[in-house]
Amino acid sequence: MEKFIIILLGSIFFSEFAFAQTDRWQQRAEYEMEIDMDVETNQFTGTQTINYTNNSPDTLDMIFYHLFYNAFQPGSMMDEKSKNISDPDKRVGDRISKLSESEIGYQRVKSLQMNGKDCKYYTEGTILEVKLPTPIMPGKTVKLAMTFEAQVPIQIRRTGRDNKEGIRYSMTQWFPKLCEYDYQGWHAHPYVGREFYGVWGDFDVKISIDKKYLVGASGELQNAKKIGMGYTDKQGGKMSLKKKRTWHFIAENVHDFAWAADPEYTHLTEEAEGVTFHYMFQKNQNTEENWMKLHHAMATALPFINENFGEYPYPVYYILQGGDGGMEYAMCTLITGERSFESLVGVSIHELMHSWYQMVLGTNEALYPWMDEGFTTYASSQVMNYLRQQGVLEGEASRDPMYNNVRSFAGYTQSGMEEPLSTHSDHYTTNTAYGAGSYTKGSVFLQQLEYIMGKKNFKKGMIRYYNEWKFKHPNPNDFIRIMEKTSGLELDWFKEYFINTTHTVDYAVEKVEDVDGKASITLKKVGMMPMPIDVLIVKENGKEELYHIPLRMMRGEKPNEGFYDAYKVSKDWPWTHTNYTLDIDIPMAKIKGIVIDPTSRLVDVNYENNVFPRLEP
Ligand SMILES: [Zn+2]
Repeated sequence: MEKFIIILLGSIFFSEFAFAQTDRWQQRAEYEMEIDMDVETNQFTGTQTINYTNNSPDTLDMIFYHLFYNAFQPGSMMDEKSKNISDPDKRVGDRISKLSESEIGYQRVKSLQMNGKDCKYYTEGTILEVKLPTPIMPGKTVKLAMTFEAQVPIQIRRTGRDNKEGIRYSMTQWFPKLCEYDYQGWHAHPYVGREFYGVWGDFDVKISIDKKYLVGASGELQNAKKIGMGYTDKQGGKMSLKKKRTWHFIAENVHDFAWAADPEYTHLTEEAEGVTFHYMFQKNQNTEENWMKLHHAMATALPFINENFGEYPYPVYYILQGGDGGMEYAMCTLITGERSFESLVGVSIHELMHSWYQMVLGTNEALYPWMDEGFTTYASSQVMNYLRQQGVLEGEASRDPMYNNVRSFAGYTQSGMEEPLSTHSDHYTTNTAYGAGSYTKGSVFLQQLEYIMGKKNFKKGMIRYYNEWKFKHPNPNDFIRIMEKTSGLELDWFKEYFINTTHTVDYAVEKVEDVDGKASITLKKVGMMPMPIDVLIVKENGKEELYHIPLRMMRGEKPNEGFYDAYKVSKDWPWTHTNYTLDIDIPMAKIKGIVIDPTSRLVDVNYENNVFPRLEP
């Protein structure tokens, strides 16, 4: 009997949790690092041990590490890419080519062993290729022990020393980091400018640095009392420069670890929703007033975010002045700090939202940057709008916070610069196409889905996506399957058109005629991309009726969203058919106007042909 119960429980467990995602095993990397920083030479030495578990079904005889700092050397791939692209990032330009020996960045591996045996390794730019002494078999854990030394580059992009606001150390992409191995194989992408992908694990990091410095980092500080400061105030400069303090942080279940340090930091801590927020910034006339108000915005936003996008799973979040704009890391962000209040809140909310899409869901940002930046952009626009509703930010809240993104993307599609979202993030022809694609089109992707599925189902789907795929590196198909299951609609066509092509949406009211005393409306699909459409009929007496026309290949339609009193679902529109006849039970003379997409949500590239009678230009 007992055995039977165990078998039964076992089979329930497997059917609930494991069956759906048998290819989504995750490698695991438990890091321990000890770092010794010299603030006079800007160099540090480090020891690193990683307990690496191969949960894949494959035998691994090689492994790879990222050595991001090596990008900041003249002649590096990042340098060449920046010099050759037609629209370089102004922060990079040709600056890397001009770095001197003491200004470059480097990470040099001094020794590397697996289970006590030496590995053969070669540095190829920003990637360390490692030939293992014995293969790692499926299901086995090995201990990788490394010693390394590094020089922090002058800050060019994201990481580095002495940023333009005078923060001494923005320590991101700073340690030799294991590349991810997943169901698509190794992801040993050279660092040329775009973003990151990593292996989940726990980080236990000890940083020894000049006693004058305050440190903020991914994770929770373990020894606040022991280092003698209660971690609320900066220490004076009585001790000699050589004297160091060791900061011990632990971050659990993250795929990256970042930190920042400065002798002039002011440090504030506040709680919200059980999360401790840390704010570290240099207090001056450009920062003080806005940074002191920042927590009110974060504390107002977090419950809204948890409710609409899923629960924040970590105990802390650090907002650190540093870097070169805003960049997301595990449990922290580095942002430039001398900003207006609106801009400071905007960047903080955007980077916090990355905790959902980059840190917890962890989509591969080289392959699907739009699933990170685009989803983050969509979510931040909702959160910023909520903060306007709550009066935390000035200005009117909007009925549709995505309206501007949809219109600006519709305009951009006519520029001839667009490349499909399926492009690898490093391989877009221009930075403009990467940005407009990943951020704007990625956010419009969600907005269009919200329109196709209806608001309620969309919100349910976003939370379900987060809960079912967290810590599993979902891909575009995984996402769209969640939305299909939540809405009961077929949505593969939408993903394929929107991600793999640059086809655009354009629908028109072609003509309206009277047939046997009733209006017959001919609609036309002008653009290559099919979409379900809403058509509003405004009658002479001012009454309105909304007709929803689903695509036949959706195999269903969204529920009534309740925007208009009268709502009718019309017959399906097969995507092969250019024209569609909408027959309605009203004489033509009683119709005052007809509008395709009256809620202005559809990414229709030409609105002029959406209305009847046509407006005079
Ligand atoms: Zn972002």
